Amino acid sequence: MSLSNLGWTSELALQFQIHQARGLVPARVVRGDRDRCLVLTDGGVRAAEVTGRFRHDAQAPSEFPAVGDWVALQLPDGDGVAAIHAVLLRRSAFVRRAAGDATAGQVVAANVDVVFLVAGLDGDFNPRRIERYVAAAWDSGAEPVLVLNKLDLADDPDGQIVEVEAVAPGVPVVAVSALDRSGIDGLARWLTAGRTVALLGSSGVGKSTLANALLGEERQATGAVREDDSRGRHTTTHRELMVLPSGALLLDTPGMRELGLWSGGEGVAEVFADVEGVAAECRYRDCRHELEPGCAVRRAVAEGALDAERLASWRKLQRELHWLAVRQDQRLRAAEESKWKAIHKSMKHHPKAERWRRN
Ligand code: GDP
Ligand code: ZN
Repeated sequence: MSLSNLGWTSELALQFQIHQARGLVPARVVRGDRDRCLVLTDGGVRAAEVTGRFRHDAQAPSEFPAVGDWVALQLPDGDGVAAIHAVLLRRSAFVRRAAGDATAGQVVAANVDVVFLVAGLDGDFNPRRIERYVAAAWDSGAEPVLVLNKLDLADDPDGQIVEVEAVAPGVPVVAVSALDRSGIDGLARWLTAGRTVALLGSSGVGKSTLANALLGEERQATGAVREDDSRGRHTTTHRELMVLPSGALLLDTPGMRELGLWSGGEGVAEVFADVEGVAAECRYRDCRHELEPGCAVRRAVAEGALDAERLASWRKLQRELHWLAVRQDQRLRAAEESKWKAIHKSMKHHPKAERWRRN
């Protein structure tokens, strides 16, 4: 694997000169967790962490490396964790803004060239929602392409295409069926070698199915890497930046899915009004529609009044929302903790204040 396969450009090389002079090497983040990243260098996959200095100097969460970022890396002598000294300037960035705080944005994907905005041509078709996704794409700096999926389920695809062209003037529109791969060839012109493509769209529109169709047989080979964990065991890690057979890079990260939930706007209640309407009839208010007695949802599925597949996507969305809520909760707690840490630290540095407090 060479860097040019990962999208390295002469422009990046120019930017990298100052880091090269310090003996650092370039790498691209293929998976980002809060504290540790997985990066690809010329020499293969590595675990990497930002240096203490980086952490100290950072002014905002958006400065931390995200999936798709190019970073300047100091390789350790042995097999250990590499140190990230800098993040190169981003061509584009998808930022999830924390509610009520425009500055505390977190980058969920960086250096995306093209974003496939996926929408379904089935019952969920909603031009207003598509409009918001287009706005999010333009915001990021990536080039949007509208992918209208589930062509096989569409009653009036030509009419729907006209409708989306009205809310997204100038944005290319491609209709496909990810399930049977028809129309997928129409996406080839954006999937050129070294280009980074990401998928964005509401839950259930077919992003995973499309990702699988694009990855083809290669998914298993490229998607998972074996990595030594701290105890020397092999663990399988999923990469969130993968090389497609065409040489393009597919960025598929939970962060983008999360962004989908936010940008999707009107929430579960509206999109799944049918399921939620039935669920309101369950005997227990906290019914999980599994084994509970008096479950109206299971009854509706058994009677054929509710589509089992629709229930499945609703469940999936519920899980994603739950995951999102848990993550947010953790983030709030972490922010609170670091605030107190800072307060304690400043007290240690100001013995007078400490004395004053004791009195
Ligand atoms: P995601 O939440 O956006 O990742 O959506 P998934 O890829 O999980 O797809 C949601 C559901 O839609 C699954 O049951 C898929 O099999 C189905 N699906 C995806 N693409 C198509 C398609 O082109 N045609 C049809 N009929 N179903 C599709
Ligand atoms: Zn129920």
